[in-house]
Amino acid sequence: MPSGEGKNEVLNAQYLPALGMKERSHSLISFTTYLNKGFDLRQHARRMSDARLGPEISPASVFLAVLHAFAFRLPSFQQLDAELAHSYLQNWMGAERSFHDDTLRYSLCGFNLEPLEQMLVDVNRRLKRGKAFDAGRVQGHLVAALDCIEVLSSFSRRCESCLERRVIMKDQAGRRVEQTQYYHRAVGCQMIHSPVKPFLAMEWLRPGEGEDTAALRLLSRLPRLYGSRFFDILLLDALYAPSPVVRLLQQIGWEAIICLKQDCRDLYQSAVGLFAHRPPDIRLTEQHDHKTYHVQLWDTGDAEALPLTLDNPEPVRVVRSEEVLERNHYRQGELTTHQTDHEWLWITTLPTQAFPPAVIRRLGHDRWKNENNGWMDLTQHWAFKHGFLHACRHRPKRTNAAGQRELVPNQGLAAVTLILLIAFGLCSAVVLRHSKLVRRDHLTAIAVATQLHRCISKAPPSVRAPTRPVPP
Ligand SMILES: [Zn+2]
Repeated sequence: MPSGEGKNEVLNAQYLPALGMKERSHSLISFTTYLNKGFDLRQHARRMSDARLGPEISPASVFLAVLHAFAFRLPSFQQLDAELAHSYLQNWMGAERSFHDDTLRYSLCGFNLEPLEQMLVDVNRRLKRGKAFDAGRVQGHLVAALDCIEVLSSFSRRCESCLERRVIMKDQAGRRVEQTQYYHRAVGCQMIHSPVKPFLAMEWLRPGEGEDTAALRLLSRLPRLYGSRFFDILLLDALYAPSPVVRLLQQIGWEAIICLKQDCRDLYQSAVGLFAHRPPDIRLTEQHDHKTYHVQLWDTGDAEALPLTLDNPEPVRVVRSEEVLERNHYRQGELTTHQTDHEWLWITTLPTQAFPPAVIRRLGHDRWKNENNGWMDLTQHWAFKHGFLHACRHRPKRTNAAGQRELVPNQGLAAVTLILLIAFGLCSAVVLRHSKLVRRDHLTAIAVATQLHRCISKAPPSVRAPTRPVPP
């Protein structure tokens, strides 16, 4: 590499004239310049490390290759392997030479997660400093949500940190058979009200533990990563036993809205009993496309707050929503209306005056938006369901305390996921905050990814000396 800074020179000026696509389409130049200037991509890449000893391909190159794969929305490591054969991408990343997906896997299996998590935190802090979250404040407050995702379920492939469950299935003859299914599950925390909705952190469930344990671990870790004032309100679903979560949130100082289901029986029954004897506090009607919601809301307010549980009788405010959803369909040329009933119950630490019941309801329903814009988006449009690294047994070794050689713990899935979350935050920032072309041409995020990817195939052949042959 002729540049004075040597390897991993993300965005090297000598390649700038290679692209003549300025202004008409997004280019890798504008993409990387923005990320280097605004998010210190180059510095962060240099801090990456893994368990290999003296590797020829640096951890920075591996990180940048996977980051670009996500930015281009490539569907698999095989596809990335093909892209890496193109010298333009190698040069662009400052890679030492071309390399294959076996190098990616071997490096990522022993990847150090700390620099990745530090980069994710830094990206999010910069987004906040740049006021990226301000547009979505609710009564001046920033809102985050916890959500769960399941990935890589399989009946055959497994690793030592897989969760497992028995599943009843039907075989070809229609007989019921029981099989063990292996999978991974994680809890993530995501900013949800702003147009840019980055993930702040995630926590993988360990074999044998429930979501609430992982969620509590994540919540205890978040203030260490971001401080306790990074956001104000946290939305949670009913999966967790509310007592320990509410206690922890009060210690940290976050307000909460927690969706309540019937398994929280005492509180549920006392709320339903209290509200049964009085008319709703508010009635409202909402229209979304072909759907009309007729909503009745009851609120204990702060004055009539109910005890959280028998063990923890601390009073909490409860809001209940009874909703009739009307949908209009055309059936055989005739307009028909179909009605369904829904019931929702939330507990919240938010004060009644600043957050009336209609706002609590809206926030409570917004938690579900998270599934559409967050994990669901990652699994549908970011190739997150591919079994990238699931059962990788070919891993670097280390010497343990007893002086024996052992395989390093498999960090592959966690490393790839963190790189995905970094790419998700950065690409959202490019699309929603930075790009004039997105605003002018109303481009989708996927169209931007396609334009960036096209930069490689359109780039002229490399004029530098051919790369060294790749060892088998
Ligand atoms: Zn596994």
